[in-house]
Amino acid sequence: MELRYQESAEEAAQVARQALPFASKHNLPANPVNYAVFYEYIIGSNASFCLELERILKEKNLTQVQIEDLYQRYIAQENEKSNRQAQEQLRNIMLNALSSIIDTDSDSTQYQKKLSESMINLEQDHDFSETRSFVAQIIKDTHMMASSTAQLQQNLNQANLEITELRQKFERTRHEALTDPLTGLTNRRGFDAALLEIRKESEANKQNMALVIIDIDHFKAVNDKFGHTTGDEVLKYVAATLREVVRGNDIATRYGGEEFAIILPETDLEGAHTVANNIRKRICRAPIGRKASQEIIGTITISAGVGQLKHQEEINTLIERTDTALYDAKNQGRNRVCFAK
Ligand code: GH3
Ligand code: MG
Ligand code: MG
Repeated sequence: MELRYQESAEEAAQVARQALPFASKHNLPANPVNYAVFYEYIIGSNASFCLELERILKEKNLTQVQIEDLYQRYIAQENEKSNRQAQEQLRNIMLNALSSIIDTDSDSTQYQKKLSESMINLEQDHDFSETRSFVAQIIKDTHMMASSTAQLQQNLNQANLEITELRQKFERTRHEALTDPLTGLTNRRGFDAALLEIRKESEANKQNMALVIIDIDHFKAVNDKFGHTTGDEVLKYVAATLREVVRGNDIATRYGGEEFAIILPETDLEGAHTVANNIRKRICRAPIGRKASQEIIGTITISAGVGQLKHQEEINTLIERTDTALYDAKNQGRNRVCFAK
């Protein structure tokens, strides 16, 4: 598979060191979409994208709407383009396999025809040498038929291999499109898709489902005091804690910059509160430090809102209610979990 980004960890960190000041210079949040656009701009591999972004920057301030538009046209569509190419390849492999089946099929029809002709011929009177030449011909035709079947087998094996490779490529592209590169959690796009899917299943099976929205407290201060690279390490630490606490069916996602969301199928409000509170307790139980320098960052705390889907409730209403609960937690002093009303 052709890799979209080939930068090493060090190169990517170098890009991050430029991307984040770029975001703050233009007064834009470094959310995943914006970050992808800045990253793409800084690595500069797509000339027309860079020219267009520079033209916008020269003419006026870069707005969120313009970034979303650039993201859709240059970044999201690239993923779709590679999907389309893969589909086209898949179609060609299928056509090749099919045409080789047709070839062999016509060979076998031909072979049957020759065999029956030979049979008719053998019913007539022939001398020994004539009969011998018929048999020789049958043997020759049989060999041809066998090699054509072997060729078919080989073509099918090849097609099988290529289809397996393509299926893996599809999976990788899909996974990349739905994953946040920093934390490895499902990204916002994946969150939206999963939430719809799980809501549908919950309604169909008459089961509860709940949502947790988490926001790191005073995260800006971490960035300001220790720099964005340390901020990123804190994000990874919170993401790892989420991963440790959630169960198999739960979906932990990076919802926005320093916000995370967990979708909890078959879970009620109390259950969601327990999960959120376990995460909260685990995160604040001890001060954390930087791995590389052993520098102490301090105690990180999170606030969370928890909500349970009501009967026939719209997804957006559940998100809004849970978000309001999160802001209740912030207003009540942070490092706590509040219930959605
Ligand atoms: P509060 O307790 O009210 O949530 O305060 P806060 O400082 O966490 O909230 P605020 O919204 O003021 O700041 C969030 C900060 O998160 C600002 C932004 O630069 C930072 N941020 C967002 N995404 C990233 C990221 O990917 N990496 C880093 N290092 N920082 C990020
Ligand atoms: Mg926030
Ligand atoms: Mg915050």
